[in-house]
Amino acid sequence: MDKNFQEEFTQIIKFKPPLYKQRHQFVKDLVEKYKPKKVADLGCADCSLLRMLKFCSCIEVLAGLDICANVLKEKMHTLSPLPVDYLQPSERSLTVTLHQGSVAHKDPCMLGFDLVTCIELIEHLEESELKKFPEVVFGFMAPSIVVISTPNSEFNPLLPGVMLYRHPDHKFEWNQAQFQSWALETARCYDYSVEFTGVGHPPTGMEKVGFCTQIGVFVRKYPQTGESVQSEKPTEAVYKTVFKAVYPSLKDEKYLQNAVIGEVIFTAQIIKHRLMSKQEEYGDDPERKSKFQLSMDCFSDYLGKLVVEKNMEPFVSGNEVYIPLATIFSFPKVNRLCGTFEKLCKLIAGKVTLSSDGSAVMFNIEQENEEN
Ligand code: SAH
Repeated sequence: MDKNFQEEFTQIIKFKPPLYKQRHQFVKDLVEKYKPKKVADLGCADCSLLRMLKFCSCIEVLAGLDICANVLKEKMHTLSPLPVDYLQPSERSLTVTLHQGSVAHKDPCMLGFDLVTCIELIEHLEESELKKFPEVVFGFMAPSIVVISTPNSEFNPLLPGVMLYRHPDHKFEWNQAQFQSWALETARCYDYSVEFTGVGHPPTGMEKVGFCTQIGVFVRKYPQTGESVQSEKPTEAVYKTVFKAVYPSLKDEKYLQNAVIGEVIFTAQIIKHRLMSKQEEYGDDPERKSKFQLSMDCFSDYLGKLVVEKNMEPFVSGNEVYIPLATIFSFPKVNRLCGTFEKLCKLIAGKVTLSSDGSAVMFNIEQENEEN
């Protein structure tokens, strides 16, 4: 490399967004492309990648592994559910688990993953650990996709202040040919294909240097089901679980029931409110009031294209207002939450006051007025 040219660049190379963010964004884009349900991040350090991935709605199981318990514990609390997660439980289920252990050891808790990420991990491994790593990740865990990123040593002369390695804990840093030959051999051995890319573009005119961070994306060539993996590979647990969070989800009947009850009452209140204002419009004229027949037209803005049937009309009888469950079920949010009318009835049974035949939500107007 031309020395002057090199010196000129060492002063100005600064990645925007920072390189670690570009690496994490690369993984996020991959998740959005392949939609894995179960993702494990090996060498997860302070869990910053996991924190980002927890917002990917396709992911139901997230696991992190690091050899250093202290770095794991630093920010693991940020992976806990927030109050808003309980107020508005998500439709998907999500479990986040952190383990302390080494990628040189097999543990059954790492089986069944769809995507395994190893971001800036391998250069931290001792020679003996690096030797065992492919068998653990590609042979034992055998996910459908593995992403490995590592520094490209050819880029180092362009980085200010880098003498030997970019980080004092790095055991080695490979150039493009070294990484690619290791990756191709690993892929061949374990029946994966591999494609190379990276993040952190070299300056114009220096493209030969390659990306600052080199990345290999490995895709398993053979199909494999989760069950066969579990049963064929008995191993003893060696990792220590240091954190586990189960997020509230509508898949859990308890949260679904709460959400449905809340939505049913809210919907019924809206309908009742419209009904009462309509009734007030008729005033006290007893003749008109006796003829009072609620037209469902006044709900058209709520009900959209709903086909109105006679038994779906809300009505007032004495001090009670009746809102048919069939009407409530036709509201999109209630409908989506419950799926079937039977499920709606089952979820609200005993939790919402219903008419004697159970077909309508019932409000006592006087009682409500007193409460107000
Ligand atoms: N993946 C992180 C940074 C990784 S730094 C990120 O994207 O920001 C490398 C991490 O690997 C460190 O946290 C280190 O503790 C961990 N590590 C080193 N050797 C390991 C091993 N044998 N098994 C698991 N983790 C290891």
